[in-house]
Amino acid sequence: MVAVSGIFSNAALAEKADHWSIIHAGTLMADARKKVTSAQSIIVKNGKIYDIRAGYISPSDLPNVKNANIIDLKDQFVMAGMIDSHTHVTGQMAPHSREQAVTTTNSEYALIGSVYARRILNAGFTTIRNVGGPREAVFALRNSIRKGQILGPRIVAGGLTISPLGGHGDNNGFRPDVFGKPHSGICNGADDCRRAVRDQIKYGADMIKYVATGGVLSKIATGTGQQFTDAEQAAIVQSAHAMGRKVAAHAHGKGGIDAALRAGVDSIEHGSFLDKGSIKLFKKTGAYLVPTLLAGATVVDIATNKPGFFMPEVAAKAKAVGPIMAHALYAAYKAGVKIAFGTDSGVSVHGINGQELVLMVKAGMQAKDVLISATVSAADLLDRTATIGTLEKGKSADIIAVSGNPLKDISTLLHPTFVMVRGVVAVE
Ligand SMILES: [Zn+2]
Repeated sequence: MVAVSGIFSNAALAEKADHWSIIHAGTLMADARKKVTSAQSIIVKNGKIYDIRAGYISPSDLPNVKNANIIDLKDQFVMAGMIDSHTHVTGQMAPHSREQAVTTTNSEYALIGSVYARRILNAGFTTIRNVGGPREAVFALRNSIRKGQILGPRIVAGGLTISPLGGHGDNNGFRPDVFGKPHSGICNGADDCRRAVRDQIKYGADMIKYVATGGVLSKIATGTGQQFTDAEQAAIVQSAHAMGRKVAAHAHGKGGIDAALRAGVDSIEHGSFLDKGSIKLFKKTGAYLVPTLLAGATVVDIATNKPGFFMPEVAAKAKAVGPIMAHALYAAYKAGVKIAFGTDSGVSVHGINGQELVLMVKAGMQAKDVLISATVSAADLLDRTATIGTLEKGKSADIIAVSGNPLKDISTLLHPTFVMVRGVVAVE
């Protein structure tokens, strides 16, 4: 790992001098859909890919470039930085999460989030889509990272989760005087749900996340079935799309999955109890499935091995939902449903996001398709194909390397040897 302070303290000078790097890539997977190439040079100028050329070039091969940082990855496998489409970067599940919910300020969440964000970046994820969390903290973190004030993955941020009163995105199980006033994402009825969506967008949400069904970890025994009505879901999706924001629906039960797909969501998060009918709807609408197998594996492990960690109603849901997620992914994958990589990091420990890749291969996906899901497909879901997802001229220099070949052994991605985000080296 290298200190980045030098780069940032010189930010004022950066506007004068162009900053060049040349990466010598032994094996290059510039686009996960295409064949890998060998012995390539990726030329990076001011955080963007200036060009990719065959062979190992030197600064003297570039006109008017006197100094370039040469990065030797001749014995490494180089690819685009990965994208995690489902994170909660400002927190991490712990037995005392309930106490944190009433004691942690937004400022603290932002600082904690900066630590977790760096762990995710170091794991090879140069972009995350944060689907729900204290919005001021998440937006502040996103903006600071974008400005280069702190080093972390690019954040595409949802605001507060849109949820029915008492639903999965509400603060349940507390005395009324503790969480008496519902947060701005809580809504009941179609009109109120439009208000909730617009409120998130007004204050800076890049996308909208809502809960179409109950959830595993909500502190309330209301199951994992559909909670918002069809009319409420349609209002959420339409009002978000009308303002140019994509919509992700948290959904476990089939009723909620299908209702969300009918409403026109861009992605279903989890999708645990999807069936053939749901798959038909996925294919008809072109929505992505974000499988979050790591969340399933994490909650099953805790419910089984750590008695007392979860309240009884949560443990019961965890044991029911966790194991079936891999089957749902396989059925969807086989049928040709579009898959975008996402972990639910925050349920799992931040920084082990790569383990989702291993679980996806275990569930029956080809390694190549898993890599597509974590790069090209996730970039499409996030509406960022112009910037990220492949290594091409003009795109952001979000580049990682590993010592093995992930097409043959996906687990090599658990230990990235090199991580660059927006042209800044985070790991080497
Ligand atoms: Zn989540």
